[in-house]
Amino acid sequence: MALTGLQLIRQREQQIKSNDHSDDVYIDALLAGAKGKIAETLKYFRDHYAVDGVLSVSEMRSNVNNDDYELWQDFIQRYGPRLMKDEAASYRLKSAKQQAGIDREHLLGSMVAISIAYAALGVNDYNGQTLMNEAIQSMRFQNKFMRTRGNMPQDTSELVETGAIKLINAATQGLSIEDRVWLRTDALRDQVTATFDRAFQVGLDDAYYQSHLFKESSKSNNSASKHFKSANGYLANSLLRDKKAGVAALAGAIVAEQNSLNVGYWYNVEDGHVCEQCIQLTNASPYSSHDIPGAPHNGCRCFVVYYKI
Ligand SMILES: [Zn+2]
Repeated sequence: MALTGLQLIRQREQQIKSNDHSDDVYIDALLAGAKGKIAETLKYFRDHYAVDGVLSVSEMRSNVNNDDYELWQDFIQRYGPRLMKDEAASYRLKSAKQQAGIDREHLLGSMVAISIAYAALGVNDYNGQTLMNEAIQSMRFQNKFMRTRGNMPQDTSELVETGAIKLINAATQGLSIEDRVWLRTDALRDQVTATFDRAFQVGLDDAYYQSHLFKESSKSNNSASKHFKSANGYLANSLLRDKKAGVAALAGAIVAEQNSLNVGYWYNVEDGHVCEQCIQLTNASPYSSHDIPGAPHNGCRCFVVYYKI
């Protein structure tokens, strides 16, 4: 049985929420992979060089030995080929290689950098796919909605795809979404490296490890977990979400334009987290297709349903 217009709208709301959730989970998993690898690497240094259970700066500022070098070689073999295929990533690989031989602390820093660059590459790949997917889902929703009103939609898939690619790669204030992913993950790398450096300065023992470095839900700047969590929040909830809203809006506008749909109704996702601004925009509907308001705030996941009247 064909869905009614209202059912389609409810379905789209669910889709938007479920996509947001998947993004959170996926990006979190990518960063968790890097965090796990980094924790494992740090553990290697603790297991080998802690004196009376304490890993301190003097051991970490010592020369790299053969065992350390082998660990590094494994790292490069595992991550290098993938990183070399991307310009931004290979630049980071190169910098990591340049500092790796200085001492153990720099070697660890290089492995932190490589693990995080690898996660950043994954985030960029994922963003590209999920943004295109969002554009297509938004187009399909408008098309289906037209059919519930007895109208036959034009095929806009090519226009939507080209428009989406352009928007995905577009720079705002000189930076594309990819650039922003790199900037944020470079900051994460520096933050994590700084937490390790502080740990070595005070002496990294078990208590420090548990109660500072890898303590979940810590608010302390000495917690690597906190920095990972905050990067995840930005990448999934802010950066990607805004861009998704942008491509979804673009796809809707293309369908409206190509099918001469002249009005748009504003819908919010009705989940109890909708803000006053978005409720007002909903209540003030419909709008002329040429006069659709922009997203009123970061992370807005409202959507517009186009009609012909
Ligand atoms: Zn909104």
